[in-house]
Amino acid sequence: MINEKRVRLLQKGNETNGPIIYWMSRDQRVHDNWALLFSQQIALEKKKPLIVLFNIVPDFLEATIRQYGFMLKGLQEIDSELAKYNIPFFLLAGKPDVQISEFLKQKYGSVLVSDFDPLKIKRIWKRDVAREIAIPFYEVDAHNIVPCLSVSDKLEFAAYTIRPKIHKALIEFMDEFPSLKKMGKTEIASDKIDWVKIQNSVKINFDVKEVDWLKPGETSALKSFKYFLKNKFENYYELRNDPSRDYQSNLSPYLHFGQISAQRVALETQKFNGNKESEKSFLEELIVRKELSDNFCYFNKNYDSFEGFHQWAKTSLNEHRKDERDFVYTIEQFEHAKTHEDLWNAAQMEMVTTGKMHGYMRMYWAKKILEWTKSPEDALRTAIYLNDKYEIDGRDPNGYAGIAWSIGGVHDRAWFERPVYGKIRYMNRNGAEKKFDIKSYIGKFFG
Ligand SMILES: Cc1cc2nc3c(=O)[nH]c(=O)nc-3n(C[C@H](O)[C@H](O)[C@H](O)COP(=O)(O)OP(=O)(O)OC[C@H]3O[C@@H](n4cnc5c(N)ncnc54)[C@H](O)[C@@H]3O)c2cc1C
Repeated sequence: MINEKRVRLLQKGNETNGPIIYWMSRDQRVHDNWALLFSQQIALEKKKPLIVLFNIVPDFLEATIRQYGFMLKGLQEIDSELAKYNIPFFLLAGKPDVQISEFLKQKYGSVLVSDFDPLKIKRIWKRDVAREIAIPFYEVDAHNIVPCLSVSDKLEFAAYTIRPKIHKALIEFMDEFPSLKKMGKTEIASDKIDWVKIQNSVKINFDVKEVDWLKPGETSALKSFKYFLKNKFENYYELRNDPSRDYQSNLSPYLHFGQISAQRVALETQKFNGNKESEKSFLEELIVRKELSDNFCYFNKNYDSFEGFHQWAKTSLNEHRKDERDFVYTIEQFEHAKTHEDLWNAAQMEMVTTGKMHGYMRMYWAKKILEWTKSPEDALRTAIYLNDKYEIDGRDPNGYAGIAWSIGGVHDRAWFERPVYGKIRYMNRNGAEKKFDIKSYIGKFFG
């Protein structure tokens, strides 16, 4: 049985005799997916077929082929994996309210299930779909280990306020997943999907190329995770903050597209029983920090604007608006890595060429954007624009929270006052130099 605290009835309705339909959105995987398992549970109880659908929005928050390609290849794997379980998969394209309501009519859908997402645009899609349909509509938190709406009912101030709540609830929610069951044969046949045609039909930016160092999809996600456990985990605690070395897990693109479950990662990490310091810090990032970001985006609708910062940060940044900046760059200069500083330029190039900037450099990168733009609003706009254009894991609550932390002190505390930053925590090149071999990092991108 799926813990009912993961499930929320978004809208009541009247069931028909048709299939149960899972509208997969954030959690794009077949296994370890509470939303799919919940959909299957009701399908089996009610002796109804189960269908999975995914709706592609042809232009989503200015995503590029780098992100769309990663997602579409993952979906292609889902299509063939679901077939093994006799679960038909459908791919729709267009506005979710129009496409999904039309699909439900065609298939006589009896119950609609979707997965939880704290971002504004996803909540609007669900609201619009709900308006068009008359069947029950459920939402299942399949992304967080402790469901976002169960751990807290308010905006949390910082990691130290949410941590004890998460740790207490983990005992209840860190359970092993049941396996997906094979459904009986159904007369509902999936459409044959022309993946190449779909990829070419999306109206997106094709200039930001796909990357080949990280293979998309559920199988590759698990493989990458196993590689991390075997080869990097032992030194994760010590080396994860060294951008000249490769000791992070590289799981964020997979977690972002839901191609791997954070709960599976946490369960296997515990079973692995490796270096205890690494385990503690990795699970802190994977669970506490990641779930804090969902809390931030769900309970603060201004997660991507200056208004979303704490009052102390807004006051302080306002007091420093007129401070003279040593350098002011345009968005194009930032984008083309044309600042005066080789370390910042290297971070930008890491993101542009690989689609994944090292975590330590993301903080440095965003803080320097605050220092070198005319206003905190410009800084926020620039950082979100570049992050979401180039990072494979962009458009994620972690991104909005990370940028708001760097530029607006969200989840942080007030520090010593200084020009431009006010009381926002400052980072500089000397600090980076003491931490790691910056020449070696820069050399990777300007060798
Ligand atoms: C300015 C800025 C922008 C960021 N943009 C994004 C983004 O667009 N997408 C994104 O997923 N993350 C973002 N982050 C958070 C973090 O930097 C990345 O999640 C991390 O570097 C991803 O690499 P990894 O999976 O190899 O990390 P690992 O160190 O292996 O961590 C494992 C997982 O823990 C979680 N995690 C790690 N660090 C953080 C953090 N600081 N906050 C929340 N969760 C964390 C992630 O889910 C990550 O995949 C941003 C941080 C900052 C400061």
